[in-house]
Amino acid sequence: MNEVLKKWGFPIDRMFLAAGPCSAESREQLMECAGALAGKGISFFRAGIWKPRTRPGSFEGVGLKGLAWMDEVRAETGLKIGTEVAEPAHVEACLEYGLDILWVGARTSTNPFSVQAIADALRGTDIPVLVKNPMSADVGLWMGAVERIANAGITRLGVIHRGFSSELEMRYRNAPGWKTPIELKRRMPELPIICDPSHICGKRALIPSIAQEALDLLFDGLMLEVHPDPDHAFSDSAQQFTPTQFFELIEKLNLPHEQS
Ligand code: PEP
Ligand code: MN
Repeated sequence: MNEVLKKWGFPIDRMFLAAGPCSAESREQLMECAGALAGKGISFFRAGIWKPRTRPGSFEGVGLKGLAWMDEVRAETGLKIGTEVAEPAHVEACLEYGLDILWVGARTSTNPFSVQAIADALRGTDIPVLVKNPMSADVGLWMGAVERIANAGITRLGVIHRGFSSELEMRYRNAPGWKTPIELKRRMPELPIICDPSHICGKRALIPSIAQEALDLLFDGLMLEVHPDPDHAFSDSAQQFTPTQFFELIEKLNLPHEQS
């Protein structure tokens, strides 16, 4: 477990663990999900407020009102809260609500101008930020996004591996392409790195083995999508766990440092 990450001030039980729905859909959905996750050692509650979708016509997020719901989740449950930011206005709104952590999504980390605009909006703050890998397996582009945010003065900075788009990939939604995050880890050894098996797999059944593989490769933790009613989720329905399924998985995972 990364020593730097331990100092971020987030709860860490067996690993750094982000969990919550792909999208914030309603106040009730968020509260139900967060209520089921609270008090069990997760590091932060995730939910997408603004959803940059690949194709138009899909659910694009509830927007600003979702931040008020997230704030309520934190007040009710004590969970730390985080969401994805894709443009400076998102950063400003999240800072206003005092979110505990932000992440830059894969579609955004692909574009240096977008990352720079986000970095400029973050300047002068000390909010923790996680940078998802760009859509393609380009370690330089991923490092560049991290450097832009580091250059803006963000010190609690980490990355999320969520796999890479591939026309050829049939099994996974996004190819795991492990050698790219491993290379990033080699070049930036201090940087906390967590894995997002939900977006790699795209299907629930594949998630346990990818989550275990990430831990075997010494990733510092996981981000997993959890929804109270996955089959009716507004986005990424096939890859979300119920809270019960989520906790069953977490308990089964082996951490290399826990093995005797
Ligand atoms: C997400 O975390 O909900 C998301 C949209 O992920 P990605 O940017 O990895 O596609
Ligand atoms: Mn999702």
